[in-house]
Amino acid sequence: MPGFELFGDAERKEVNDVLDSGVLMRYGFDGLRKGHWKAKDLEQAIQKRFDINHAQLVSSGTAAVSMALAASGIGTGDEVIMPSFTFVASFEAIMMTGATPVIVDIDDTLTLDIAAVEAAITPNTKAVMPVHMCGSMANLDALKSICKQYNLVLIEDACQAIGGTYKGKVLGTIGDLGCFSFDFVKTVTCGEGGGVITNNETYAKHLDHFSDHGHDHSGADRGAEAHPFLGYNFRISELNAAVGLAQFRRLDDFLALQKKHYTILRTALEPLDGLTFRTVPDGGEESYAFLNFFLKDLNTARTVNQLFKDNGIDACFHYFDNNWHYIRKWEHLKNKSSLYPLSDHLKKGLNDLKDKDFSKSDHYIGRNISCLIKLSWTEEEAQKRAETMANCIKDAIG
Ligand SMILES: *Cc1c(COP(=O)(O)O)cnc(C)c1O
Repeated sequence: MPGFELFGDAERKEVNDVLDSGVLMRYGFDGLRKGHWKAKDLEQAIQKRFDINHAQLVSSGTAAVSMALAASGIGTGDEVIMPSFTFVASFEAIMMTGATPVIVDIDDTLTLDIAAVEAAITPNTKAVMPVHMCGSMANLDALKSICKQYNLVLIEDACQAIGGTYKGKVLGTIGDLGCFSFDFVKTVTCGEGGGVITNNETYAKHLDHFSDHGHDHSGADRGAEAHPFLGYNFRISELNAAVGLAQFRRLDDFLALQKKHYTILRTALEPLDGLTFRTVPDGGEESYAFLNFFLKDLNTARTVNQLFKDNGIDACFHYFDNNWHYIRKWEHLKNKSSLYPLSDHLKKGLNDLKDKDFSKSDHYIGRNISCLIKLSWTEEEAQKRAETMANCIKDAIG
């Protein structure tokens, strides 16, 4: 992560194809487009690489999550269980459809705590949304069996873990629907963009129509197309898809680089006392987009984070003090600071949030440091960084 570091000729070529024809839209204009269908080609490439029947590109990862919810019929009055540690997009996307985010603890996987999910289920629960944070995954077998037992939709947010696998299957293909982001800082970037994947034919049709104003995409005259149900505009532009197409073709190279650089850092930190690594569920393989570890307490984590900064180690995060990824700092959500009226259902659902006990999550996030793995490092740079990080940690632990 992020793919933009290696932006080059392949991306330029795909974008130039689009600029040459001048058709910047993904649908229609067949006669003008000189055979270029970048969004369609990228969808097909995703389907093939991930062995999934349907991929729908959309305008962002946040849109992808909203679309997954809308496609599975989730809206006002419904509850969606999500983790306390994730990007703000998770609750934004849930609230977009009118549904209520029910935020629960995480465990040492840095993803949903299974017992917390079970305890949060009510008659209004419609979906569980694990977020595969920082390159690794939730315990998907356990979540699948809960979803089966309670008849819930399982939506995987794999925005930060593209290419990671669980029991031989690519993340995003295990639940009913899987979501990806192709924003500027993700492993594969379109500039802005996202994708939803599914093997469910009905959901696939919903995604296709809903993301384009409800258009049924049949026949050759866009103006004459039917609208079997209401939709919205979550389309990706052909220019963004062109960048993503070139990037996605390089996914295996990107993953190999992530693994190589991750392994250099991990090998240097592994022998240190007073440090443990995040738990990866049995049968899981990370995408290696981040290296995550725990120190013995909050203060040690804060000290290590400061020492990293002082010693030029960028791109490492102590999320406990960060306002984008952890419940502790989501004041705007806790205060329901909305520009427009929220439904009574949603307001009531958010009321508990201010006083809800997240001490279990604090126990993990307070001690966690999460280091982004860059693609552009040379082996020497990665080695040097690994050494500096190990020294900082030794200093902090004393
Ligand atoms: C990036 C991200 C998103 C949202 O993606 P955008 O494309 O930026 O809207 C959603 N969930 C997670 C976990 C992310 O990291």
